[in-house]
Amino acid sequence: MFDLTGKVAIVTGGNGGIGLGMARGLANVGARVVVAARNKEKSDAAVRELRTLGSDSLALQADVADEQAVDALVKKTMSQCGRVDILINNAGVNVRKPPHELALDEWRQVMDTNLTSAFLCSRAVYPHMKALGGGKIINIGSMMSLFGAAFAPAYGASKGGIVQLTKSLAVAWARDNVQVNAVLPGWIDTNLTRQAREQIPGLNERVLARSPSGRWGSIDDLSGVAVFLASAASTFITGASIPVDGGYSSLG
Ligand code: NDP
Repeated sequence: MFDLTGKVAIVTGGNGGIGLGMARGLANVGARVVVAARNKEKSDAAVRELRTLGSDSLALQADVADEQAVDALVKKTMSQCGRVDILINNAGVNVRKPPHELALDEWRQVMDTNLTSAFLCSRAVYPHMKALGGGKIINIGSMMSLFGAAFAPAYGASKGGIVQLTKSLAVAWARDNVQVNAVLPGWIDTNLTRQAREQIPGLNERVLARSPSGRWGSIDDLSGVAVFLASAASTFITGASIPVDGGYSSLG
């Protein structure tokens, strides 16, 4: 039920952090992973690691905020792998400023990278998934899909948008057997949150104090949900947003 042998998965931002954790999960159950990100050295290193897990992975350089780059990414995936079964829309950035200090180009950078990219990548893979008779799209939201954050208005808007985009794609493509779901990670130890801990005094202590699990998540905490949502085990689940947060969003 969880076997992904023969399946091809594009993971945006798969060269580090949560994307790499998810890519490891897929590689472990047989998927061929296409690591799509901008930094070639990081992507090559991720591919080397995924190959040690037995996955015939490859790296394709792409800025997922750029429409032409996204179309080229999917075209190259089709020409090099012949199919695309799974897409994980994971690439993301944050600009930490209160709303009254955020510039329009910063707002656009966050929205384009976190939300528009998910639309562009999903739109580009859809005809190929439909032709295959089905597919799986996994969008990465956040606790800020649910909660407001004074220091991250664009990030919160983009991640709220991910939940609604997920529902719209899910209902549009349900009859094509394309399931579209979102994962809402809690606080996970990655470059993104290491940067946040440096910028926001007391963040580390507040996260630990509020988290029922009493710890930060690791990138490997995201591997299992990626496998589940990418596999036949989740065929009747679509449009859902699943927190993977050690209980963070359940605490009142
Ligand atoms: P990282 O900074 O470790 O990873 C971000 C990834 O996105 C990198 O691989 C980066 O690769 C890629 N990326 C950024 N911009 C682009 C772009 N324009 N085109 C292609 N790739 C891009 O962060 P995380 O692993 O923490 O974050 C991954 C996702 O998880 C994001 O969507 C984030 O919002 C979300 N998330 C993270 C949480 C956490 O606690 N860490 C909590 C909730 C959600 P490169 O620079 O090579 O392009």
